Formats: sequence, structure tokens, C-alpha cells
Amino acid sequence: MFSSIRTKLTLWYLSLLTLVIAGFGVVAYELTIRTLDRDLHSRLEATARLFISDLVADRDEDDENLSHDEMVARNVDELQVHDFPFAVVSKTGNFKAASNDLQGMELNPAGVPLWDVSVGNDRYRVFESEFTLGNDKYVLVVAHSLAEQTGLENGLIVVFLISGAAVLIISAIGGYFLVRRSIEPIVAMSREASGISPDELRTRLTVRNDRDEVGRLGMIINSLLDRLSSSLEQQRRFVADASHELRTPLAILRGEAEVALAHNDRPAEDYRTSLGILHDESIHMAKIVDDLFTLARADAGQIQFHAKSLYLEEIVEEAVRSIRVLAAKKDITIECALEHCVPYEGDESLLRRLFLNLLDNAVKYSRPHSTVIVSGKLSVDKRVYLVNIADSGLGIPESDRDKIFERFYRVDKARTREDGAFTSGAGLGLSIANWIADVHSAEIRLTSSSESGSIFAVSFPILS
Ligand code: ADP
Repeated sequence: MFSSIRTKLTLWYLSLLTLVIAGFGVVAYELTIRTLDRDLHSRLEATARLFISDLVADRDEDDENLSHDEMVARNVDELQVHDFPFAVVSKTGNFKAASNDLQGMELNPAGVPLWDVSVGNDRYRVFESEFTLGNDKYVLVVAHSLAEQTGLENGLIVVFLISGAAVLIISAIGGYFLVRRSIEPIVAMSREASGISPDELRTRLTVRNDRDEVGRLGMIINSLLDRLSSSLEQQRRFVADASHELRTPLAILRGEAEVALAHNDRPAEDYRTSLGILHDESIHMAKIVDDLFTLARADAGQIQFHAKSLYLEEIVEEAVRSIRVLAAKKDITIECALEHCVPYEGDESLLRRLFLNLLDNAVKYSRPHSTVIVSGKLSVDKRVYLVNIADSGLGIPESDRDKIFERFYRVDKARTREDGAFTSGAGLGLSIANWIADVHSAEIRLTSSSESGSIFAVSFPILS
């Protein structure tokens, strides 16, 4: 129960409010008490001043020749201030009290001019003031019962406690509902989110207000779901396409093997042809499996990127050398003109694969007896090394140009298989080349394509 945000927030809010109310109560109580004390003190002082000034005036007008003690005794008897009993002590220790309240009271036990004393069941605040009549010294003691003030103080405590408790209860209820209302969108969102299964990634959370925090969280989760669903969709397509691509060579393998095994008396030449087909198809399958494996590992981030300083023109040269054997089979000439490039940080084997894939396509889709031209040059500002591979192939139709880098995309599957004098791929070569370019911050573009051939350009940024 205490683990819910609703309860936790309410408890935090209540604790804070309790502290504030308690602090406020203590301060208000202290201020009230001090004000009452100050007020009582000044009333006691005023009463004392009244008595002394009366006494001095009486002495000045005295025509009965009374002694100072007699005069004091007379004034104590005559002067009565309501609720303020007082007494006078003469230097000879004579005690004259104006009221019974002060009878038997212990005078100034602490030796301070203001003190509290208990008389019977009552408590008194007592104020002491010295005065002289001629050469005679007296001490005037004025008191006031604290019963009223104590009652006021107790009442104040009760009022504070009751009103504090009432405020806390109302705030607790109000706070709980406020918190509940404010996290209600989150609760609704989690209810919706719990209904989303991996098979149903099309559902999105309802965003009521896209400007508040909860709305923004909903939008972030929705965009995460977008990415998840598109990557899941991509994965599903990948698996479906992969199995589809493997099905054809497997069917050919099986068919050829069945034909070869069906007759015992076939001429040796037929067996050789069948074995040749089995061989070609197994190479074709091995290439597809290898490409699939590369892409799957690339997706999982499992391909190690071994960057080292290298010369791009050397990598291109090596790839051209490797592809010449395939080119020779179609009597295709490869012309190579590569400018020297500054050292480049890259993964040698990945870059070699990139150029091999492009050159393989150039040769694969070029007409026999034609020429493939490979060139490499540094841009004028020396910030880009540009490798162009121009073939004399059939070209790529306009409508297919932006799709050829997609996985498993082949312009014309029949054409690819028919023309594949060399092992034709499954439409993965350019995807792999594109991924390699990406990890090198390079870019592959099909810069031109017509019926007389295509030009693929790879631009490598040179950081110096
Ligand atoms: P594949 O392994 O089938 O060649 P790629 O990903 O390398 O797959 O290429 C995708 C498709 O783009 C190819 O099937 C082909 O139709 C087209 N293509 C790629 N390079 C060329 C080229 N140089 N000339 C003509 N078509 C090309």
C-alpha cells in the first residue's frame, strides 16, 4: 500500500504540511504569550507608578504630619486597583498588604523585579519596584493573577491543535484526490501499455495533452513503439526473404540430385552437367548464407570494426585484382586510374568487401567484351576521396534506383538469374556495401545510369 506513488506523495505532502502547521503554531503561540507577558508587565508597572505618584503627591500635600510609614499604610488601605493587589515593605521590614491575596506571600524569592508565585491555588505575576520617601526606602510589590492568562494560553493550544488537525485531515483528503487525479493519465497509460503485446505493436498510447510531462512521456513511448515495430517488421521481412531466397537454390539442388539419381544408365557427361549445377548452386547458396550472416551480425552490432591507417587506392587496387578473374570470363576489361590518397582510417577487410561487391555487380551486369572503368581521386579541397566505378551494363531503371540499396531487392530477378554467368546474389550485395560505407561515414550513390551503363560513386570524408 505504501509503495504506490499516490500514497507516497500524499504522505510526503502531509509530513511537510504538518511541519509547516506545527512551526506556524509554535511561533504564533510564542508570539501571543510574549505579547500577553509584555502587556501584563506594563500594566503592573503602570499600577506601581500610579501608587508611587499618588503617595508622593499625598506626602507633598500632607498637613497631618504623618510619618512616612503611616502615610504608606494609609495609602495602601485607601488605594484599591481592581485585580492588582499590592503591598509595601518598609526598610524596617514592616509589611503592609492591600489585599488578602498577598497575605503570606513569599517576597521576591529569586531576587528579580518580576517573578511568578503560587498563593493557594492561584498563580500570580509579581512586579517589584523600589521608591523613597525622603530618606526612607520602600519596596512596592504589585501582583496580578495569572488565571486568566493561563486560561487563554490553554485555549490557544486547544484551538491550534483542533484547527491544525482539521487542516491536516482536509488536506490529506484533498491531497489524496489531487495526486490521484494528477497521476490518473499515467495509470491509464500503463493500463494501455500492458495491453500491447509483441504481436500487436500497432496500438499506440493515447496522448491527452502533448505539452505536459505525461503527454511527452506518452509520445516518447509511442515513438519507441514505432521504432520497435518497424525493426520487428524489418526482422520478419528479413527472415521471410531469406528463407525465400534459399528456397530456390535448394529446390534446384534437390531437383538436380533427384534427376541424377533417377536413372542408372545416364551418360557420364550428364552426371558432369548435374554436378556442375550442384556446384554452382552450392556456391550461390554459400554466398547468400554468408551475406545473411554478415547482415545479421551487423544488425546485432557484432561485427568488430578494426580501424587502421590505410591507403584507399591500395584497397581498390586489390579488389580490382581479385575481380579480374571473373571479368576475364566475360572478356571484360577493367581500366583503373587511381590517384594517391592521404592515409585513411578504416577497416581494411570491410572496405575490400565494399569494393568487391560494387565491382562484382559492375562485372556481373556488364555486357560481355565491354569495359569497366575504375577511378579514384581527391577532391579539390582535399576533403573527400571519390571512387567511381563505371560499367557498361544494362543500367538500372529510374523507378528502381532508390530501392537497390534495400535488402533482397533485385531489379529483375529473372534477368539477374539468367545473366548470372557468375554467381548472382540475393539482392544483399549493395545493402552490405551501404552498411560498410555508413560505418566509415562514407556514402555510396548511383550517380548515373542509362542503357549504356551505370556509375556508382563512393565518397570518403578525409579528416585531417
Ligand atoms: P545482387 O547480389 O543481386 O547483385 P545487389 O544488392 O548487389 O544484389 O544489387 C541489387 C540489385 O541492383 C541487383 O539485383 C541489380 O538488379 C541492381 N544492380 C546493382 N548493381 C548494378 C549494376 N552495376 N548495373 C545494373 N544493375 C545493378
